[in-house]
Amino acid sequence: MTDKIAPAAFLGHGSPMNTLTSNRFTEAWQSFGAAVPRPRAILVVSAHWYITATAVTAMAQPRTIHDFYGFPQELFEVQYPAPGSPEIAGEIADLLQPHWVGLDRDSWGLDHGTWSVLVHAFPQADIPVLQLSINASQSFDYHLELGAKLAPLREKGILIIGSGNVVHNLGEIDWKAPDAAFDWNRRFDGDVKEIMTTDPARLPSVQKHPDYTRSVPTDEHFIPLLYLAGLAVAANRPAEVLVEGFSMGSLSMTSYTLGCAAQPDDSNTRGASPIIGVPGDQSNT
Ligand code: ZN
Repeated sequence: MTDKIAPAAFLGHGSPMNTLTSNRFTEAWQSFGAAVPRPRAILVVSAHWYITATAVTAMAQPRTIHDFYGFPQELFEVQYPAPGSPEIAGEIADLLQPHWVGLDRDSWGLDHGTWSVLVHAFPQADIPVLQLSINASQSFDYHLELGAKLAPLREKGILIIGSGNVVHNLGEIDWKAPDAAFDWNRRFDGDVKEIMTTDPARLPSVQKHPDYTRSVPTDEHFIPLLYLAGLAVAANRPAEVLVEGFSMGSLSMTSYTLGCAAQPDDSNTRGASPIIGVPGDQSNT
């Protein structure tokens, strides 16, 4: 039944303004959404639901949360009215046992880590969307393991997306250099790419990387990538680059997919179409 396995992805979301913009990153998210078979539901691990527990949204109609300030009014008016699924939330809590997963019926909803990418990837907002929180008190190994435990959801047609940024240092942003990258950003992002595309099980080891502290001064935007790494470990195959690049010196916009693009030595006969027309332009800053 391999043709029913949903792909997975990590999308580097960058500024909330990407919601209202069209650039090569948002075009890559759009191509990804257009290429995948219609999923039964979408589960998003967003950098912006970072709490001290593991929880899943379990409301029938999650609200659109505008969890930022200082942006144009137009951004506060964005709505992403996708339904939720209390039923699938229960399935996820069961699947992750013995880890305890809270069923959030009235607290959170869909934050901008989720909707800033889904407005591009799935603009119809007609597929049920759930969010899984990031448990801030847990280790990288825990998040990798939890990602692997989510793998059976893919076989049930549930698309899993991590939404964050590999490199996310707001303190060092250079507003005047929209496409630039500092050397340490480029080095760390490149070494993470090497791991993700060869041996994703090694991803927790980047905490010892010389550029880790500067690239990941707080870990909430990095952790969603550990979920894709865990899914890749469970699938026994590496991730693929969807699009790569940088923003404002201290952000990496690199995105990855799993089980989406066709591979030359792939003996599976999955139904997913290959991603086409998405430049992986390595020469671009
Ligand atoms: Zn963010």
